[in-house]
Amino acid sequence: MKLVIAQMKHETNTFSPVPTPLSRFATGADSPPEGAAAVAAYRGTGSAIAAFIELAEGAGAEYTVAIAAAAHPSGLVHDAAFEHIAGRICAAVALGCDAVLLDLHGAMVTQTYEDGEGELLRRIRAIAPTVPIGVALDMHTNLYAAMAEHSTVIAGYHTYPHVDVYETGLRAGRAVLAMLADRARPALAWGRRPMLPHVMRQGSDDSPNRELQARCREIEAEGALCASLFVGFPNADIEYAGLSAVVVSDGDPAQARRWCDELLDLAWAARAQFVYQIEPLAESMARAQALAAAKPEGSGPVVLLDHSDNCASGGTMDTMTLLGAILDAGLDGVAAFAVFDPAAVQQMIAAGVGSEVTLALGGKLDMPAIGLAGQPRSVTGRVRRICDGRYRNQGPMGRGELSDMGPTAVLDTGRVQIVVISDHVEPHDLAAFTAVGIAPERMNYLMLKSRIHWRAGLRSLAHAVVECMGTGVCTSDYAALGLHHVRRPVYPIDAI
Ligand SMILES: [Zn+2]
Repeated sequence: MKLVIAQMKHETNTFSPVPTPLSRFATGADSPPEGAAAVAAYRGTGSAIAAFIELAEGAGAEYTVAIAAAAHPSGLVHDAAFEHIAGRICAAVALGCDAVLLDLHGAMVTQTYEDGEGELLRRIRAIAPTVPIGVALDMHTNLYAAMAEHSTVIAGYHTYPHVDVYETGLRAGRAVLAMLADRARPALAWGRRPMLPHVMRQGSDDSPNRELQARCREIEAEGALCASLFVGFPNADIEYAGLSAVVVSDGDPAQARRWCDELLDLAWAARAQFVYQIEPLAESMARAQALAAAKPEGSGPVVLLDHSDNCASGGTMDTMTLLGAILDAGLDGVAAFAVFDPAAVQQMIAAGVGSEVTLALGGKLDMPAIGLAGQPRSVTGRVRRICDGRYRNQGPMGRGELSDMGPTAVLDTGRVQIVVISDHVEPHDLAAFTAVGIAPERMNYLMLKSRIHWRAGLRSLAHAVVECMGTGVCTSDYAALGLHHVRRPVYPIDAI
């Protein structure tokens, strides 16, 4: 038995000005790892590709890892990057195999293709029309027909924050291996509903996604090989952004169809619960200060979420609206993670640890797609620490995977410690703070450029959380995004 394993992961925010060349998929190298280097990078981690590697080795299969390419969310994937990654995968398939196992995201938009994953699968099918293809997808998949029609098995995450990525790889991979052993006959049904669940309302700890994902697990317990409800990624101005479902039954297409429709109907009935109500920033700031003033001695920080500028949804991570409000309000005992500003890091490195510097911090990236220009903020402080910005995630999200913030420095204003980074990393892991010498549990406030993922590694520390409306290409205001290409009508833009 010979398997081709590969990873191609990118969530594309079509409003993001952050470019996505091949190097963004390569963590410090020229191109993403392949073969033994890819196995070494991912074996034993909490990723879906790690699950595929483990399953292949456990089954005694011959396997090759064509490429392992994952990048933080950003703007349209450059055509050259897509062609390189898809080309490596197709070349491996062309050598012949019994099955293909793919660790994909499901919301990749390239300069040419609205549906990057569908295009990859179309090309694989042209080479290998009948070979089983098992796919692990992120819960933020925007599902296109080509993805469902060319896959044999699809499994999506059941959690957001995504802490079951490895298990999702196991579900997809096991179904394909069972098929190869004549122990299963996957029958896939898929569908969509015209709705754009808001990211701030998608957490799987919260209703209604908690109940929807619980129903997926029940359907699997009732005999489905994989049952997945995708909440979709709305910061993508494409035709089929939004909610979808895929159910793979064992040999019963009609049952797969019934289960899939049931999931879609449950989600549609709960659509109003996926709508997010935005609180004005001034109210959020006042609420945060009241919460901090009233918190008992020894309790954890009040978390201020800068949810409009979340790099794990394609944010530039350099908008200064919320951090500016924190500085203006004189909040004390704050750690802010993080501001993306490679030039400011270089200025701090040149000045040296202990030096006082005044920087035009952040705001370097214009956001023409939403009509905003970058606005730096003058900040004076002492350079408290300089480091290489690399750390391994402790988990539960991305356990064991390398995070790389690039050259990193901490600017200390006396009241606020600002982590300034050179590559985009979302704060979902305690190690993001310990890597820069900050103990978040001792702070009065944490400012996090995150929406839901921070909950994975940091929520247990928090005394309270306040969702703050800053600015950026992850804005929670659909009207500010100007969605022009999404199919209409679509809820909640249209009242259906
Ligand atoms: Zn996701």
